[in-house]
Amino acid sequence: MVQLPIYLDYNATSPCDPRVVEAMLPFFTRHFGNAASRDHSFGWEAAEAVQIARERIAALIGAEAREVIFTSGATEAVNLALKGVSEMYAAKGRHIITVETEHSAVLETCRHLEKMGAEVSYLPVDQNGLLALDTLESAIRADTILIAVMYANNETGVIQPVQQIAALAKRHGVLFFSDATQAVGKIPVEVLADGIDIMAFSSHKIYGPKGVGALYIRRKQPRVNISRQIDGGSHERGWRGGTLNVPGIVGFGMAAEICVENMTNDAAQMGRLRDQLERSLAGSTGASVNGESAPRLPNVSNISFQQVKGKALIAGINKQIAVSTGSACLSETPEPSHVLKAMGLADEQAYSAIRFSLGRFTTEEEIAYTIQRVQEVLRQQEVLTPNGD
Ligand SMILES: *Cc1c(COP(=O)(O)O)cnc(C)c1O
Repeated sequence: MVQLPIYLDYNATSPCDPRVVEAMLPFFTRHFGNAASRDHSFGWEAAEAVQIARERIAALIGAEAREVIFTSGATEAVNLALKGVSEMYAAKGRHIITVETEHSAVLETCRHLEKMGAEVSYLPVDQNGLLALDTLESAIRADTILIAVMYANNETGVIQPVQQIAALAKRHGVLFFSDATQAVGKIPVEVLADGIDIMAFSSHKIYGPKGVGALYIRRKQPRVNISRQIDGGSHERGWRGGTLNVPGIVGFGMAAEICVENMTNDAAQMGRLRDQLERSLAGSTGASVNGESAPRLPNVSNISFQQVKGKALIAGINKQIAVSTGSACLSETPEPSHVLKAMGLADEQAYSAIRFSLGRFTTEEEIAYTIQRVQEVLRQQEVLTPNGD
């Protein structure tokens, strides 16, 4: 018998891998030192653990350890990147390009920068959620300092053409920032091969603890500089003041190490289960998979169930299955998803969408149960006929 409730909301957050918790525990008690204490072994131990974690995290994204700065999460990393570049390069220009389907961390930071005098272009996407390169190129101006495009979307899993975007940015001498929070650990992300200059990501989306994230800042070709946003000590090479969250960083490092080892297997398994879910749910009910023809992450399925509101369907299943109507951060508000609206969905289709996001611990039985339970609720709501489809 399958254990209930079933968690299919891994894009909102993931449980810690037990190996991560085990690695963290000694750093709460015995090895509690401050990584900035230079004068005794407690500090040295903590600093060494942080260094190992930094190397593991850098290895996951193909960076050098000293290019990785620790933050409190992806939201802070995004704020540091966008505000830091905006301040540092203000003399060159005040124009930033981003996309309508970005996470609220990027969109709200851009709104803030607009109030501070920056100009921001929010580019549209096509019906699959993809940014067109010619749309991007024609938005670049002499005073453009930054292009901010997410690697993969949190609601749909749609993967942007990152390498081409990076090449375009480079050709125009503009920095390229990517919020890769959903891509890192799930698909290969290589900052050098991808051409990314600055990149934000987070521990709790890859089976690490909450409250830790990182910003990659390129050191060569070009050497990127940003203004610090949290003033204080000279931690993180002066880029972010504040005592490091050593246990959290150690856990993040272990989570990264496990991803390096397991990514290929995890992706294959999640992809197989995700495809099963889509075939059974979308196939029989006339529902449609949002972003279906675009390259997508292997673990996400965003399905519009047409005649039934997402909220109503969720109310029918949420005692047994945890899914989301879209972005967790916005699900308090009754507005339809800004991502699906940008993809051209009508309000009704956007309201009828449900995001299933799978993870490393998702099983065949859980997916089979989910398919059966969703079909049952659709039948009760008379979307499906009593005897099947
Ligand atoms: C979860 C998420 C964030 C925010 O990350 P935190 O570490 O929770 O601050 C930012 N961007 C995307 C795409 C996300 O999925």
